[in-house]
Amino acid sequence: MRVVITGGAGFIGSHLCDRFLADGHTVVALDNLATGSIRNIEHLAGHERFRFIKQDVTEFLYIDGPVDAVLHFASPASPIGYLELPIQTLKVGALGTHKALGLARAKGARFLMASTSEVYGDPLVHPQPESYWGNVNPVGPRSVYDEAKRFAEAMTMAYHREHGLQTRIVRIFNTYGPRMALDDGRVVPNFIGQALRGDPITVFGDGQQTRSFCYVSDLVEGLVRLLNSNETYPVNLGNPAEITMLEYAEVIKRLTNSSSPIVLVQPQANRTTDDPQRRRPDLTRARDILGWEPTVSLEEGMSQTIEYFKQQLART
Ligand code: UDP
Repeated sequence: MRVVITGGAGFIGSHLCDRFLADGHTVVALDNLATGSIRNIEHLAGHERFRFIKQDVTEFLYIDGPVDAVLHFASPASPIGYLELPIQTLKVGALGTHKALGLARAKGARFLMASTSEVYGDPLVHPQPESYWGNVNPVGPRSVYDEAKRFAEAMTMAYHREHGLQTRIVRIFNTYGPRMALDDGRVVPNFIGQALRGDPITVFGDGQQTRSFCYVSDLVEGLVRLLNSNETYPVNLGNPAEITMLEYAEVIKRLTNSSSPIVLVQPQANRTTDDPQRRRPDLTRARDILGWEPTVSLEEGMSQTIEYFKQQLART
């Protein structure tokens, strides 16, 4: 296959590049480097089946030659990222998805859209099945991401219905691993960075809010299976092991042997406005349709991620 990956220099996008190359495919990665980083793909420079194009995917996409699949992963994805880039986030979800769909249609390619557990907002149903329509504040600070992704899902379904495009939608729950940006403000790099530096580990609010963390290699396996499946409707991918942020801080403190204190802080209001209180994927569809289940434990995945951040800190 010849595969186009938008957001190919991003955290998940770059792992997808690695996976498709390892499976013998040819990869064209597009990224405007707004939140992605060349460092994530520098090891692929000179690879004969890899090409990187610095491109803003909200503009017309021209790719020479045949394309078999378009994987649309371009978007700021951390709350800090989309709070700093609200209009770009809306544009890449709306215009970028339209351009990526247009490319897939022109090439007769299969299309996979990276959606998110944020489409469920601050969920009133727990755990979240794909049939849940969500609880999103359309005008809150997180709405630029949540509504962009909801629009992108609607656009993807419209291309499927109107043009018969083969489309896939994945709703990705909190995923972590090497190549997350140390400064992206998400809880995983924040806590690990703080613990390694000996700074206070900043738990927002009362720390009772939960997340369920999935290691990136598990996610990538699920993505490949979804692309190869025949499922048009959204499929959740994530790890169902749910943990409070206070418990998570303790796990990181232990795994890093850190003497950092764990502190409860009240951050800027827009960081915690509409912060989902509980989040855990219902994986029934992923299991039934893809035969997929995450296999990497929190301790194992976090240990790998801690090693990566140690190297990054030594490099900077
Ligand atoms: N969080 C925290 N301390 C931090 C950063 C985040 O307690 O230094 C909390 C945040 O309020 C949220 C959870 O960790 O409840 C996950 O936040 P993240 O930014 O990783 O992404 P989200 O899952 O909200 O998209």
